[in-house]
Amino acid sequence: MTAPLPYTSSADIAHFIAGAPYAGSGERRQAVYNPATGAVARHVRLAAEADVHAAVAAAAAAFPAWAETPPIRRARVLNNFLALLNQHKDTLAAMITAEHGKVFTDAQGEVMRGIDIVEFACGAPQLLKSDFTDQVSTGIDNWTLRQPLGVVAGITPFNFPCMVPMWMFPVALACGNTFVLKPSERDPSPSLFIADLLKQAGLPDGVFNVVQGDKLAVDALLTHPDVKAISFVGSTPIAQYIYETGAHHGKRVQALGGAKNHMVVMPDADVEQAVDALIGAAYGSAGERCMAISVAVLVGDVADKVMPKLAERAKTLKIKNGMALDAEMGPIVTREARDRIEGYIALGVEEGAQLVVDGRGVRPQGLEDGFWTGGTLFDHVTPQMRIYQEEIFGPVLACVRVKDFAEALDLVNAHQYGNGVACFTSDGNVAREFSRRVQVGMVGINVPIPVPMAWHGFGGWKKSLFGDMHAYGEEGVRFYTKQKSIMQRWPASIGKGAEFVMPTAK
Ligand code: NAD
Repeated sequence: MTAPLPYTSSADIAHFIAGAPYAGSGERRQAVYNPATGAVARHVRLAAEADVHAAVAAAAAAFPAWAETPPIRRARVLNNFLALLNQHKDTLAAMITAEHGKVFTDAQGEVMRGIDIVEFACGAPQLLKSDFTDQVSTGIDNWTLRQPLGVVAGITPFNFPCMVPMWMFPVALACGNTFVLKPSERDPSPSLFIADLLKQAGLPDGVFNVVQGDKLAVDALLTHPDVKAISFVGSTPIAQYIYETGAHHGKRVQALGGAKNHMVVMPDADVEQAVDALIGAAYGSAGERCMAISVAVLVGDVADKVMPKLAERAKTLKIKNGMALDAEMGPIVTREARDRIEGYIALGVEEGAQLVVDGRGVRPQGLEDGFWTGGTLFDHVTPQMRIYQEEIFGPVLACVRVKDFAEALDLVNAHQYGNGVACFTSDGNVAREFSRRVQVGMVGINVPIPVPMAWHGFGGWKKSLFGDMHAYGEEGVRFYTKQKSIMQRWPASIGKGAEFVMPTAK
């Protein structure tokens, strides 16, 4: 029987260290809202430096035994965790909706995509199986080990409070590392629920820890000598800061940043399918997804077919409390984020874009104090406009009209971000050329949100990723392990005398 959990009480949301809820010494607290009502639901404690040090110390103490635990036994704990996740996935999804605001079915999808990674990590023995070469020279064999790094940390954004941590810790733990998670302070509760499930699954105390907090906690992790690697997902300026500061302190860093994902619609695309895809990918999760489509690139005369249908659909989105079963879009995470998004809409008008659908002022009945905005649609957006160049991270779709495929490709390739992109077409050659020539990390052909599956790895290019290894998949395994090459010869076969030349195969 575990102690009463912090997320089930009205007490402050706190930390989880060394296998138990941890109140911490930090005096600072921050409000956590229900974005649908605008009411303060709880407060989260913001860690002091000493709390971060306590979490790292717990993880460091747990590391030797966990690193020595055979991968198959680590995998068994993850298998137990998987079963518990499947049992409690709707509780987790409801918790996400309550603090983030996204609609419940979307939150269920988020949990499922996290579960995929746990399933992948359950293959630990296979993932860590090494390469072996028999007889590289007479009597000598050479093989490779992948060994864990030690204490690793994950710093995660508000928009996927369950899935993004699960891009990191299942793989890190499978590889034998111990983990400190610093979730977003805007929706901190799922992290504690996950910590408790891991404990119930049999994870030894200290292997997984959670510190709630803000920049102070992040900086304490970035500079702590016992933290060997940092995985970060969030906005680009912070990703760059994390990458530079972590590297300066000798850490391995993967820092995934912001995005401005384009969807190119070719004149030969199926218009109905393209409109469905744009509506779902632009307004799903209120556009608060790093793989949301925020720019539609309409090629040739397809614009005149697509725009009226988009406008009709954007105007009639079902914008409701995320727990309503027919809701298509929920609220924005905070009032500040809503105001920032609406500021961008005003800017777009000033810049001369045509505002086809204006989402400002949408307030579902009975929830007027929530952080609402509707779906917004701009036409005739140009690359010079800030609403084209910058990440808005809200339900705002900017449509750019171009004359042909070459202009569409140049437009995508010139953008500062390179996270995801899609091309809708019925021409295989266009699809192939697009996939090969586009300067973006994740490409969808007639797929609007091509988030790679658990065993493929996730990562963008350009300002969408700092560091060279993607999250999860094989790159995740490489990120969380260091490679050691072992070359071995037994005494009977050791030749006499020193060798002064570069060894070669004999
Ligand atoms: P954010 O950058 O504000 O915060 C991310 C994390 O960094 C949080 O844990 C936060 O506490 C911490 N943080 C914030 N300011 C900091 C500072 N000054 N110093 C140190 N740490 C700081 O991002 P967000 O608003 O939570 O999330 C939305 C952003 O995340 C968007 O830009 C979105 O595109 C991006 N994102 C990217 C991906 C991806 O895979 N590339 C996935 C999800 C979200």
